[in-house]
Amino acid sequence: KAKAEDGHAMDYVNDATTSDHPKYKDGNKCSTCAFWAGEESGGWGTCRHPEFSDVLVNKNGWCSTWVPGG
Ligand code: SF4
Repeated sequence: KAKAEDGHAMDYVNDATTSDHPKYKDGNKCSTCAFWAGEESGGWGTCRHPEFSDVLVNKNGWCSTWVPGG
């Protein structure tokens, strides 16, 4: 799978700390999200959300669908 680029879907960014989205809260990131399915290699892993089914997301990324879990 290709690595997601910033803006892939739902305001996704590869570095959560760069998000200026109003829903973003410090500390939230893919690796603590309920959709995170685990790291594959080098900090990149799978997101269960259908919008990200064709890409890898970064463990330090974030999108506006973030929900606690991980
Ligand atoms: Fe990351 Fe969660 Fe968004 Fe998937 S749904 S890209 S794991 S924040």
